[in-house]
Amino acid sequence: MIPRTVFSEEHEQFRDTVRKFLEKEAAPFHSQWEKDGQVDRALWTKAGEMGFLCPQAPEAYGGLEVDFGYNAIIDEEIARAGLTGIGWGLHSDIAVPYIVNYGSEEQKQKYLPKCISGEIVTAIAMTEPGAGSDLQGVRTTAIKKDDHYLLNGSKTFITNGQHADLVIVVAKTNPEAGAAGTSLLLVEADSPGFKKGTNLEKIGMKAQDTSELFFDDVKVPADNLLGAEGQGFIYLMQELPQERLSVALGAIANAEAALGWTLNYVRERKAFGRAIAGFQNTQFKLAELDAELTAMRVFTDRCLELHYERKLDVATAAKAKLLTTDFQCKLLDECVQLHGGFGYMWEYPIARSWADARVQRIYAGTNEIMKLIISRELLKE
Ligand SMILES: Cc1cc2nc3c(=O)[nH]c(=O)nc-3n(C[C@H](O)[C@H](O)[C@H](O)COP(=O)(O)OP(=O)(O)OC[C@H]3O[C@@H](n4cnc5c(N)ncnc54)[C@H](O)[C@@H]3O)c2cc1C
Repeated sequence: MIPRTVFSEEHEQFRDTVRKFLEKEAAPFHSQWEKDGQVDRALWTKAGEMGFLCPQAPEAYGGLEVDFGYNAIIDEEIARAGLTGIGWGLHSDIAVPYIVNYGSEEQKQKYLPKCISGEIVTAIAMTEPGAGSDLQGVRTTAIKKDDHYLLNGSKTFITNGQHADLVIVVAKTNPEAGAAGTSLLLVEADSPGFKKGTNLEKIGMKAQDTSELFFDDVKVPADNLLGAEGQGFIYLMQELPQERLSVALGAIANAEAALGWTLNYVRERKAFGRAIAGFQNTQFKLAELDAELTAMRVFTDRCLELHYERKLDVATAAKAKLLTTDFQCKLLDECVQLHGGFGYMWEYPIARSWADARVQRIYAGTNEIMKLIISRELLKE
């Protein structure tokens, strides 16, 4: 693998701390959390104490105010170890940045310190049973009445849904105005009328809590509007490149780890009197995967550099998400094949990663939607 130049020595020291923390505090318990359908809530506050939550957040609210490379390292280490139940990426890279970037001073003071300490777990609720890719079809409404919005509707597939204390809800404040009538609201989980559905049973990422959410005449204080009314779609478009970069970085880190597990396995495993690493098919498969992985790594690192410079555009982030997640799934499938029957056994990390990775092509915008974004940019007059 060619050397990476996107991380400084400080970044790498931080990586070491994150890796050791995960080895001690998460890896030994992850199988149990998969059975429980969620991680231990205490992991969040332990992470907060270590400075692993929202590292980019301003110092004024208790954050480290460091660059996105620190988030990237946390995402990579979680993905490398296959600890997919840990929802810090959704919290630190996706949800909390909305508060940092569009929140009022009052909202920042009220919520950010607790998001950083892990006392508050966040979620973002865009998807509904009837609207996923087509977010303009969102039917949840938030109608202004005096000093509050009356929130009605339901959401589904919401990551951190069970643990969430604070949810950023995408709702129509002006249902007649389409995208221009969409706003973001900060909804506290103990608000009367807000109910969490059951923890959804998934084919992978089993330790990640994912839920339906229901809003029945929830009174959301007008002060909990995030940013300006009707700007929700614009905010979403501005924040999505970072979400897609996180997914891409995780995809490559996990693919790299999976290739490593497979190299070890093919050296050990014998068939027809020799290690399966000795078959030309094995060698060629691994060589192809490694070559593609190298190219993907260079491209995603370049995207990370662009993001440091605030120059990562929507189409480039879409390319990164599309290419890396398709590749991650392809690599994992080839690696399961090289593991034979053991590759299908849950106790093997390769089997878990294979199941966990499938959703990478679906969430954060499906890979078909990534193609739409890229082609729209290509065909722009
Ligand atoms: C584990 C998990 C966690 C998730 N976490 C969250 C979360 O935290 N918050 C949240 O809001 N959502 C979350 N989601 C939802 C996720 O973002 C959506 O599932 C995704 O955007 C797709 O929407 P959909 O499921 O409604 O599929 P649909 O939009 O119904 O798509 C079905 C198929 O049609 C294709 N399709 C749709 N439109 C087009 C088009 N114009 N051209 C070509 N093909 C098209 C899609 O690509 C897909 O293949 C999560 C989902 C999962 C599974």
